[in-house]
Amino acid sequence: MSDSKPTGDHGRKAHNMTQSYEDMLQPAELEENWQDDANCLGVDPDLFFPERGASTREAKEVCRGCVVRGQCLEFALQNGEKFGIWGGLSERERRRIRRQRAQTARSIIGA
Ligand code: SF4
Repeated sequence: MSDSKPTGDHGRKAHNMTQSYEDMLQPAELEENWQDDANCLGVDPDLFFPERGASTREAKEVCRGCVVRGQCLEFALQNGEKFGIWGGLSERERRRIRRQRAQTARSIIGA
């Protein structure tokens, strides 16, 4: 887990990570360098961390056409990113996905 902020630089500047992606990613993920193709490269990182109750619309608009949206979302899910917009989804939306995955895993184990 990390207490980072997003950016295409989503991973490097905008999300203001305490670790670089290179430090956190596994070798296979590193090869992909997905963040190099991020739509949010050069976009103000604060856009992805709106104040509580503020609109997430602009950030989600940037994510909408991002070709690495899936990788970004999976990165956030795998790393338990609790804050900001990742892969076009808010913290709440990502929590819902984590809950659904946990339910699915429990049902498979219990089956
Ligand atoms: S999905 Fe959004 S936050 Fe993630 S890399 Fe793309 S533009 Fe950036």
